[in-house]
Amino acid sequence: MFAVTILGNNSAIPTPDRHPTAQVITCNEQLMLVDCGEGTQMQLTRYKVRRGKIRYIFISHLHGDHYFGLIGLLNSMSLLGRIEPLTIFGPPELEEILQLQLRVAATVLRFELQFQALLPERTGLLLRDKDLEVSCFPVKHRIPCYGFSFSLQRRKRRVIPEQARAYEIPAAYFSKLQDGEDYLTKTGSVVKNDWVTLPPARGKRYVYCADSIYDEELIPYLQDADLVYHETTYLADLHERAAERYHSTSVQAATLALRANAKRLLIGHFSSKYTELQPFLDESRPVFANTDLALEGATYIL
Ligand SMILES: [Zn+2]
Repeated sequence: MFAVTILGNNSAIPTPDRHPTAQVITCNEQLMLVDCGEGTQMQLTRYKVRRGKIRYIFISHLHGDHYFGLIGLLNSMSLLGRIEPLTIFGPPELEEILQLQLRVAATVLRFELQFQALLPERTGLLLRDKDLEVSCFPVKHRIPCYGFSFSLQRRKRRVIPEQARAYEIPAAYFSKLQDGEDYLTKTGSVVKNDWVTLPPARGKRYVYCADSIYDEELIPYLQDADLVYHETTYLADLHERAAERYHSTSVQAATLALRANAKRLLIGHFSSKYTELQPFLDESRPVFANTDLALEGATYIL
């Protein structure tokens, strides 16, 4: 299972039915949180996400709508008895902010909080955990900001049944072939694994672009991704305002997905000034047909 669940799809100011940015990535048994706007823990409860299973949190930048929910979530995790360590990746000042918030409240978390600072000179691979790889890349916004790329690697080789049968390899042995083992025949000769299998299928990749001005330098990071999340704070007519504020429009997000040959696009971070979201789709789809709105509570499977 590799999926993204949207907890918040709005920009700066929350509305009664749209929350600031937060997403949960499910990677097999593992959960990760990407950004943590105000209200995230209520959204986790509403959509029955098991917060105790969150192992990693990624904060793209320090505009409040991307992290104001963090201290509350950490506090609740501790009150609920969490003891498993938690790793947060974010801009270095975030660690100071959290430490101050904890210190003035004389709060000692029951679990170990590991902090990994994101720095412009240290982009690239952030972590490798089982079949999961996460890397980060810089995006252009008003303050330092990072996008994240999540990829689920496939390790199993693909058996070619006709080939395997030609060497009289029993089907019961196929799982070992998938793990890369050779086969020893009854007569003692070796059937090399790569005679009867193909390399593992390509892994799936989800790319989260955070808050960003329209920037074609992002294309290499999005290239051929299975799913891309790109912000669309504004509709196309406000492209000048979008550029001034280092945000993007519906048409710009779709254009980037198209140029990067992405398979699918999710759009979000809608300005509170819009009550209807349909116009975002109406503007994006003519440019990039496979676009969906990031809807709160919805899970998008890769
Ligand atoms: Zn921002």
